[in-house]
Amino acid sequence: MNAGEKKVVATMIAIYCRSAHGTKATLCEDCNELLTYAHQRLEHCLYGEEKPTCASCPVHCYKPAMRQKIKEVMRMAGPRMLFLHPIETVKHFHKERQRDRHFATKTKATQKTE
Ligand SMILES: [Zn+2]
Repeated sequence: MNAGEKKVVATMIAIYCRSAHGTKATLCEDCNELLTYAHQRLEHCLYGEEKPTCASCPVHCYKPAMRQKIKEVMRMAGPRMLFLHPIETVKHFHKERQRDRHFATKTKATQKTE
């Protein structure tokens, strides 16, 4: 589930670990733990393939310590992602926007019937 998301998060953590912790081919223990955790969260995401961007998701499923770490990763790796993998990144954010819209419509529709 969420295979594309998993790839993006793995790439971002790799970029972050390389520049923040000086690792080369493999992640440091901390980042490896974060990656496993992020993948687990995606596996168990309530919204599955229709999930909104994690930033706009109403379910804050990360525990505080992990949330802090992933925020740091996004802040550092986000701009680099666009530079290193422009096509993948643009595709990813385009997909996220579409899903956000879909998610917003769906939420509204659900609220109306309640
Ligand atoms: Zn690291």
